[in-house]
Formats: sequence, C-alpha cells, structure tokens
Amino acid sequence: MKKIMIILCFLLFINPIYLYADDSTDTLKETDETKKIDTENNEENDNNKAPEKTNAKDNTLKENNENETEKDIKKDPNKITEDKDELKENESKENEKTKEELLKEKKEHFKKEYEKIKPKSYINPDTIYLTFDDGPSWITEKILDILKKENIKATFFVCGNNTKYGKKILKRMIKEGHKIGNHTYSHDYNKIYKDVGSFFKDLYKNEKNIYEITGIKPKIVRLPGGSNNSSPHKGKDLITKINKKLLQRGYTYIDWNATAADSSPTSPIKEQIIFNVLKWSTKYNNSIVLMHDSAGKKNSLKALPTIIKKLKSFGYSFDVLSEDSFKVTFNTVKLDKKITSYKSNNLLKKQISNLLN
Ligand SMILES: [Zn+2]
Repeated sequence: MKKIMIILCFLLFINPIYLYADDSTDTLKETDETKKIDTENNEENDNNKAPEKTNAKDNTLKENNENETEKDIKKDPNKITEDKDELKENESKENEKTKEELLKEKKEHFKKEYEKIKPKSYINPDTIYLTFDDGPSWITEKILDILKKENIKATFFVCGNNTKYGKKILKRMIKEGHKIGNHTYSHDYNKIYKDVGSFFKDLYKNEKNIYEITGIKPKIVRLPGGSNNSSPHKGKDLITKINKKLLQRGYTYIDWNATAADSSPTSPIKEQIIFNVLKWSTKYNNSIVLMHDSAGKKNSLKALPTIIKKLKSFGYSFDVLSEDSFKVTFNTVKLDKKITSYKSNNLLKKQISNLLN
C-alpha cells in the first residue's frame, strides 16, 4: 500500500508532458515562443523605460556621490575650501588682468584728454594759487622740492603735526617763501563742527602750534570741507556763524575754484588729477587750486610737475594767498564786503562729477 501511494504521488507531481506526451513538443514550442514574445515585450518596455531607469539609477548614483561628497566634507573640510580657494584665485587673476587693462585705458584716455586742454580764447592767464590741504606729511617735503625746482610759491593749509618732522616742514615752508594757512588742528568734523566754540578751540590750538614753530599766526583759514560745509550736527547755520566769527576775529576764509578732486580715500590716477586741475584752472584768469598733501596722496605728488609745466606754458604765474589776494568763497556772510561769492560748492561738485563721468 505504501509503495502504491509513493507511485501515485510521483505521477501527480511530474510535468504534464509526461501525461500528455504527444502535445509535449508543441507545448514546449509555444511556451518558448510565449517566453520569447514576453522577453521582447519586456525588452521593448525596458527600452521605453530605459531613460527613466537610467536616470533613476543616475540619480541614485548622484545622491550617493553627493552623500559621498558630503561625507568627504565631513571627513575633510579643507578639501572643499581648497577647491574654492583655487577658484577664487583664478577668478581674481582674471579680474586683476581686467583691472590692469582698464587702468591702462584710463591712463591713456586722461592723458589724451589733458593734452588737448588749453585756456579758452577769452581767458587771459594771470595767477594760479596752488593750495595744499591736510599736511604736513611725508608728501609735503617732496612737494616743497618740486616747488623749489620750479621756483614757484604755494599755500599750505596745515593741520596739527607736532612731530619733529612736522616742525621741520613748517619752518622750511616759511624759509622758502610759501604761505601757511590754518586748516584746524584735528580736521575732525564731529569735533570742529559741534558748535562755534569747539571750532575755535581747535583752530586756536593749531594757531598756537604754528606760532610756536614759525613765529607766525596765520590769518588765512580754510574750513575743512569748505566754507559751506554742512556740519553733521548743525547744518548750514553753524558754518555761517563760524564764517561770521572768523571775519569778526580778523581771519579770512578762502575756498577754491579749481580742484584736483583728490580728496577721496581712493585717490584718482595721476593723469586724472592732471586733467582735473588743468580743466578747471584754465576756465579762469585766476584760479585757486585745491590739492591735498596728506600721506596717501602719492598720485597728487606725481601729477604736480606736469600741472606746473602745463600751466606755465599757458602763461600763468604762481603766487601765494593772503588776506588781500584774489579769493574765492562758497558761503559769503554779510559782514564780508570784500569777498564775492563765486560758485556754490554743490554746483562745483556737480560739475566735477559730470566731468569725471
Ligand atoms: Zn582738509
């Protein structure tokens, strides 16, 4: 009985081909064909789906890579920083190159422009008053050398410098026939334009210093920012009060009608400074030229020899400012009958910005 059961089970579990032996080949064939079609369909489907699948795979790879990169960053933060630094270095090299090219173009442009400048036909070149503000600094000594070589005199609106060097420079200015003007001791707008009293305290401090060094009390003053400077706290009213008090106390304040436009922290290039000064000073018979001789004004120093040579070639002579000389003021107070208003500082600034743009 047991044997019969085993045989029955065997027969039931075996492939039907053995049961239907005659159809077996066809069935096999059919099965193969079906399988083939199925495979082809699958392949076609696979092909259709392929990009998606690849993308999916790629994305997965990407994600994995990103994860790897993230891991890398976590493992070695310097790696990415180094790469970024390298990129930055390359970028800055390219910028540098462009900057150099731009600078070259700018130099050529301004040189070409200033070479063209001549006084207008209706101008009778008379006197140029070169003025240097904010010194003395190491630049001042070099300026004095140039002035000596060119045999011309200038006016220095000095600030406080009580060093041995500062004293030496102030003495040399007087010895060589230049004029010293008072430009306040600190030149600190917040301090000097706080109120009238603070302005004079600072002015007198500078005067005392200049007097102790040179034996001279300068009577000409240039207000930092000009005589129409709006103080940060009190506006125009304060400056008008200061101007009035200056005149009442026997001082003369003097502004300018030509400028090197070299007061900004990023100094213009030499050629631009030459252009600025020539452009402005050739508009008038008499010009008071504003320049700066503080420590950073290397380009102003470099521009000076050409400025002097050019102005001389137009027929101008040079002189120092004084209480009685030609003068320019932006803010004329009633008390001052001698001084005539020239131009508003804002108009001058506007013209300069038009000129430079
Ligand atoms: Zn100044």
